[in-house]
Parts: sequence; C-alpha cells; structure tokens
Amino acid sequence: MLIRYHAAWVLPVSEPPIRDGWFAVDRGRVVALGSAGRRVLADGAREVDLGDVAILPGLVNAHTHLELSYLRDEVPPASEFVTWIRGVIAARRQHPDPRSPAILDAVDRALVEAVDFGTAIVGDISNTLVTFEPLSRSPLAAVVFYELIRFNTSDPAGLVEQASREIDALVPTDHVRPSLAAHAPYSVAPLVLRAIRREIDRRPFAPCSIHLSESVEEVEFIRTGRGPWRALLEEIGSWDPTWTAPGGSPVQFLDESGFLDARVLAVHGVQMTTSDLDRLVARGATLVTCPRSNGHTGAGAPPIEDFYNYGVNVAVGTDSLASAPDLNVFAELATLRALAPTVSAGALLDSATRQGARALGFDADYGTIEPGKSARLLAVTIPARTDDVEEYLVSGIDPDQIRWIEEL
Ligand SMILES: [Zn+2]
Repeated sequence: MLIRYHAAWVLPVSEPPIRDGWFAVDRGRVVALGSAGRRVLADGAREVDLGDVAILPGLVNAHTHLELSYLRDEVPPASEFVTWIRGVIAARRQHPDPRSPAILDAVDRALVEAVDFGTAIVGDISNTLVTFEPLSRSPLAAVVFYELIRFNTSDPAGLVEQASREIDALVPTDHVRPSLAAHAPYSVAPLVLRAIRREIDRRPFAPCSIHLSESVEEVEFIRTGRGPWRALLEEIGSWDPTWTAPGGSPVQFLDESGFLDARVLAVHGVQMTTSDLDRLVARGATLVTCPRSNGHTGAGAPPIEDFYNYGVNVAVGTDSLASAPDLNVFAELATLRALAPTVSAGALLDSATRQGARALGFDADYGTIEPGKSARLLAVTIPARTDDVEEYLVSGIDPDQIRWIEEL
C-alpha cells in the first residue's frame, strides 16, 4: 500500500530540508520524496497530510550502556572522573548478578524510553551481554559491543578468543549485531588491545569502540604512568608492574598501536588536542560525543567546536543512565548546541542521524531519508510557520512532540 505523507518540513539529512515536502512509503520503505511543487500524482497512493511536523530519520544513540540503566540517579555527580568511577564500581558491586530482575527490568524500561525519545539505533556497550536478547525483542536496531576491561592478564589472546566465542554463540537477528570493544587505553592491557584489533579485522563489517581521552587522569596515566588512575588500579588489584607508560597522548598511543581506523568509535574525546583530532581524521575514526555525561562524571566540557572545525566524523551518544538523566538524544543535541553555538544545526543533526548510522554499519537502511531505505522516521510537532527547522530541532524536543511514522 503506497502512502504519500505531506509535512511542513522533510529533513532527508542527505540534502537540505524540504519545506512543504512529501515522501512516499511502501511496505516500510521510502520509495520517493520531494517538494510540493514536484508532486507526482495519480499513482493510486493514499495521501496523508501530517501538518505542522518535521519529518526526520530516527535518531542514533551511538554510545550507551543499557545494562547500567538500574544505576539511574545512583552515582552522584563528581568533580573528578576517578571519583565518579569509584562510585560506579561500588554501585555495581551491590548487584553481582547481571541477570537480576532489577537489572533486566531497568533494561526493558530504558528500551521503551529510548524508542519514545525517537531513537532508531543504539551503540550499546555491555560487559555481560544481557542486553542482546532484550534488544532483539525491541524495535531498535543495535550493535551490542561486548566490552573487555582487563589491565592485567597472563593470556590476552585467550581472553579475546573467549569473548569472540561468546558473541558467536548469540542468536543473531537482522537488526541486532554483536561486536567487540575495549573499555579504554588505561584499563585494557596493550596486548589485549592488539588481540581485539586482530579479532575485529577478522570480522569484515564489525565496528569497534573504545572510551578515549575522556579525563585528565587518563591523559596523565598514559603520559607518565602515575596519578589517580594508577592508584585506583593498584587499589583494586589490577595493576601490572611490568607495564610502562607509553608517553604521548592516549590517541597517539592507540594510533601507534595500530588500533585506530575507520571502524573505530572513539567515545568522549574531552581531552583531545588538535593534533589528536588530526589523527582521528587521518584514520577516518568516528568521535562519539556525550556532553551531558562528561558534565556529570567530572570529565569536563568537550571541545565540540574543534571536533567540527577539524573535520572529525562526529556522532552523538547519551552514555548510560549512571551518568545521564535520560536517553534523550534530542536533549543531548540541545547541550551540544549550548556548548557549540557556531556549529550549524544541520551538522549537529547529521551527527545524530547519518554519522551514527554509518559508524555503526546501519547506513544501508538508516540515517537519511532516501529511496530504498527504511521508513523508520520521526514526525516531530513544530510550531506553525517554523522557518529554521534545524535550529528548532536542536533546541530541545519534548517526547510528547515525537511520533513514529508507522504509528500515524
Ligand atoms: Zn561509556
């Protein structure tokens, strides 16, 4: 059944917004789009006028940890990142069973919330893989990154082989895909990083993820081997006395280790220098920014304008409910807008749609409104006669304004 929807604005993302636009959908796929003046008539389509709405692709939350949803409001904001990490470690120790009803119920609620906020795809970090099955049941597309965190191990290759076997044992679906991730350069041994990279290379289309240049403590540890992160590793029994500090920046370390390439999602980047950003551009990596989380954890404000001015591929994430108030990507966009007033609203929306979909390997179906792609599209209610629709959409959108096209 061909349906042609008409709307005050259609934002394909792959081209400029179309005022008084239309798009046609057949069996869940976009088949055509255009402006009112070029409408093709008499093709038997049902015409639906949506009125004062902006149509855009479902959003991409490129970095979250759904399994930590039970920690909502449990870890107080910190002025130093390592203090916040200590809070997370303490809170997770109170829930040793990763499949407890409290954890699984919180995952289910978070999934409903994410969809209600207009999210089509998530990049989900998991240390336990408990989110794979709930995601498979949900309308969300996802990459579930099985994240390894191990600084001291005698068998780095074995650790990664075991993780690889675990993700291969998952029952795959067409919309939820597993992959591997490293937690961060300060919490994963160099040989484990190398083994993860080798495993990713064996999987031709798998993306990889790592928290990178998030805090000053990380930068200090990679440069000197000292500071609060070293103290924490010693305290929790994870210090490796044979490890020596690589020196340089965390990005330089990962780059010189051969870890960075176009399949890597480098998350946070709060402490990245301009030469770090040049390296990301040269490798084609995607930087996932999560500014609300950075404010909560004590990491600080990310240099958003530098990210865009240096030509980095930027995607957007909320991070987990342990450090963000909700999984609302529109709220994350409003924070980006406040931190980066000179970046165009169109570039910010591109980050929250096309860039995230591409980085997660879902760009054949998602991220833009184009013929052949999925019609997993949002209709956002906007005030009548809105002129700068992109600016409006990055100013903060309430969930009550959001509907999915297939529900109309
Ligand atoms: Zn994270």
